[in-house]
Amino acid sequence: MDIIKLNNNYYFAIADNSSITTDINNLRLGEIKKKGIFVLRIDFSSISTKDYKKILKKLLFIKKILTLNNFKIGISEGSKDCIGYLINYDKNNKSHNDFISGINAILYNTRYERYNYIYDTVCNYLDNCFCNQHLCDFKDNKCGEKRNTTSTVGCCRHFRIKWLGPLTKLVQCEYLNQDYTCSTKCISCKLFTCDYLKKKGIEFRIKDILLLNVFFNPIQKYFIKYMVFKPKEAIIKKIMFF
Ligand code: SF4
Ligand code: SF4
Repeated sequence: MDIIKLNNNYYFAIADNSSITTDINNLRLGEIKKKGIFVLRIDFSSISTKDYKKILKKLLFIKKILTLNNFKIGISEGSKDCIGYLINYDKNNKSHNDFISGINAILYNTRYERYNYIYDTVCNYLDNCFCNQHLCDFKDNKCGEKRNTTSTVGCCRHFRIKWLGPLTKLVQCEYLNQDYTCSTKCISCKLFTCDYLKKKGIEFRIKDILLLNVFFNPIQKYFIKYMVFKPKEAIIKKIMFF
């Protein structure tokens, strides 16, 4: 049987086992408790992508209540726990994989661990987009947007206020490594899309990234978008507060 490994010792099986499962479209706490077992059945042909957010929010709520009541999530198979069965799953379908990442996030037991997982997963996705697709069109260390300027570090520079002498100075970001990578995994910088990228039709919006859209409230989304030039730890600390 094919499986998809998740974190926290869980996995999905790619198969059908309707006899023991709860359809993800039909999550009812009372029925789950009556059944005495919580194993999901996800038939991707029966869910519309526009309902992903609503379903994941409901699943998060149900999982929290079940955990509070010491109700086992999934069934043990050897040393691992099967959280459910996938039907009509396409491993090359980004929406299917994003939905599974959402369930993976829900299976963390603390908010900090969940945010950390989401943060890293989204950063990896954005890094892959920027690097694999060469979105910024760097040539001789000059990106598309800054081609006719002196910047050889793209947008990894900012103004610093000086109290003596001229008031402000444009400086290279202190988190930029010598190999031009970011030492601090700033998600807000990674989400930034300049005019050059927008003209190419590229824009990373929080509402289009399922993990960010589902698990964060408007204030948290504000900080995720605008805390540029800040380290990961500072951003997670801020969003934990709200
Ligand atoms: S996001 Fe825009 S300004 Fe920043 S490095 Fe890429 S092309 Fe340059
Ligand atoms: S924090 Fe932002 S500006 Fe600084 S190196 Fe990282 S991506 Fe560049």
